[in-house]
Amino acid sequence: MKVAFLNPPRVMERLTEDFTIAYNVSRFSRGVDIVYGVTPPTELAILAAAVKEKHEVAFCDANALHMFAHEVCEWMRDERPDFLVVRGGDATLTADVMFYHYAEAMGIRAVLWEDTLNPLYSQRLMSDFRLKRVLYGEPERKIFEILDGAEGLVGGDIIPDMDALPQPLMDALPMERYVKEGRRNWYSFLQRGCGWGACAFCLIAPSDITHRMRSIPHIKQELEMLKERGVETIYFWDPQINPSRERVHALCDLFAQYPFKWEAWARVDVMDDELAAAMKRSGCFRLHLGVENGDDHVLKSINKGTTADMIRNAFRALRAHGIERAAYFCMGTPEESEDSFRRTMSLIREIKPTTIVPASYRPFPNVPLTDQARHAGMLVQDHYDLALESDCFGTALATRTRHMSAEQLSKWMDRMHALSTRIALRSYAFKPSVWKPYARIFMVRAIRNRLVRRRTPHGQ
Ligand code: SF4
Repeated sequence: MKVAFLNPPRVMERLTEDFTIAYNVSRFSRGVDIVYGVTPPTELAILAAAVKEKHEVAFCDANALHMFAHEVCEWMRDERPDFLVVRGGDATLTADVMFYHYAEAMGIRAVLWEDTLNPLYSQRLMSDFRLKRVLYGEPERKIFEILDGAEGLVGGDIIPDMDALPQPLMDALPMERYVKEGRRNWYSFLQRGCGWGACAFCLIAPSDITHRMRSIPHIKQELEMLKERGVETIYFWDPQINPSRERVHALCDLFAQYPFKWEAWARVDVMDDELAAAMKRSGCFRLHLGVENGDDHVLKSINKGTTADMIRNAFRALRAHGIERAAYFCMGTPEESEDSFRRTMSLIREIKPTTIVPASYRPFPNVPLTDQARHAGMLVQDHYDLALESDCFGTALATRTRHMSAEQLSKWMDRMHALSTRIALRSYAFKPSVWKPYARIFMVRAIRNRLVRRRTPHGQ
């Protein structure tokens, strides 16, 4: 059997040719987010490698190749696969589904792989878009049920041993296209699930996704492949490089053997001077940290497991060692108030991040905080509606809070965004390699976000 894999072109998002959306990489462990640069579809490439053990495969990263819809159809016609696996993502869902239907119309059996991890969401997707086959969550074993003829919703697998996963099928990818901040880049992951796994707003928190780590030798195999292919930077796209001190040291010892510079996500609770020094020595240039809020009361209400003091200490250590600090915020959760916004903005000034990303809380289905917000009548839109608006940037407000109306929230979010712009300018004004590719995107995006917000119902 011949199985083809398609990472669809992000036609809805193609404002310029130099960015794409990072959910191409891994959402088993994280929610939706964006990163500028052309990101490799790492996990689709792992899935293709798993299928290649039993079937002939073809692969098309139409996103990186900047293909248009008719070019993708020509590729399908030329390849004539028995099956097409289309990577679906909630930020570009309507465009992704289009390729599923094109394939079916051409007589190719298609399956949409949607990794939102939530059967309710995928079920709704399947009926709304009239899809015969949807695969959700970790796909490397379940795909074979579909290839054997299963229809409907298939998924929900948790693969216990991360080392059982094959390495990504890099030879099928246009590796030279994956460039971020002017350097050949790769997205990788060190684990699935999260060592904390309890934040009340998080997509993976309520599920039974256990925390499973790749072994050091398994990661080393991938690093060897990347070295051979001239990759210069790696972005470890999973929730935390630091589930424990021991793990940080083991990883840093490994990374120190390679010339790569790397960035990763981390939690603030396992971070101090010694760890920051080890990271810096092994090539770390940037960490992404989920700060979420500067108010201890709000942090407690979302079960973040951190405090403002932990945030201060982590940022102090990273700054002392010259590591860039990207701070992410989840604003508008039910306990948010004007006072908590003030505390958050004051903390931001104190900890001096190099960038901040203020996102509105997204009410993912089946997440404890979403249920809480819904029962309290605070939900304005749900995640599915936002996905259909292709708003993966957390700009459209989905809730009001116990203490704030949607209009008040909106005003404070505008202030956060203005602060974010000032911080980015201060940090990167003299680093054109960072901001130059994005300048046009931000302008178009700013206009679009304003329009989206106007369309968003408020104050219910
Ligand atoms: S730290 Fe919290 S928000 Fe981040 S992945 Fe883990 S549970 Fe989710």
